[in-house]
Amino acid sequence: MKFFNYFCPLCWRPTTENKRFCPIHRQPNGAKEYKKRRRQLERAAFLNGWSHPTNDIFNSLISKVIAPKSVNRSITDSSINRVDDDSLSRISTICASNYQECFRLISAVNTKRFKSIDEWGGAVIRVIDKSANEATVNDWKKNCSECTPSNKRLLLIHLFARIETEKTALPEPAKKGPLIGTISVNQEVLIALLKAYDDQQQLKTKINLAALAKRHGLTRQTMHAKWIMLLKNPEVYRKAIKMQKNQQKTK
Ligand SMILES: [Zn+2]
Repeated sequence: MKFFNYFCPLCWRPTTENKRFCPIHRQPNGAKEYKKRRRQLERAAFLNGWSHPTNDIFNSLISKVIAPKSVNRSITDSSINRVDDDSLSRISTICASNYQECFRLISAVNTKRFKSIDEWGGAVIRVIDKSANEATVNDWKKNCSECTPSNKRLLLIHLFARIETEKTALPEPAKKGPLIGTISVNQEVLIALLKAYDDQQQLKTKINLAALAKRHGLTRQTMHAKWIMLLKNPEVYRKAIKMQKNQQKTK
């Protein structure tokens, strides 16, 4: 079962497979939020040296938090000799120790009030998403109804893991263009990349990222990620380098 398909690829919110994005990140209504989130995810990829497509970055961040599968395993292991395999309070105890920020935020949602994972998850969504879009809750319930009991539990753990990722693992969105700090360290690399970019534009030459990476002591993946960043807005990088060179001159 592909749990990622039950959530918006850009955030924690549940959605159905055919809608793909949540109401916040669905275009064109979500255009502004979508762009902001895109910049945030691109920054995360940059910091991790990833060259993943934007729609895969949030999902990759989840495994940096704590992968739902391993949390699920501790729940199943703890149920040895126990009959009430899906007791909500036990799921809650184990998830709370793994997804602390998420559980701090949903502390008002008392599991004792709920009879099922469907209801509990719905309440969690309403607490996290104050502008509660009922469509999101309905999508959650619809997805739950398609799951076997053990998959439903795993789906709930995915929801917690995504909320934890949203609240703890996302960097501030990158401003348009590079951050000053990253430029000073990588000025040499950026100049080389800009030159390669210009050559490519003017002379139609192919760039050799592997050779560039080797020359600057970087991995190919890191160099590739930098190249992708540069391609988004080469002129901003050009200006930043120029600015920094001027600053150095006046020092
Ligand atoms: Zn979303």
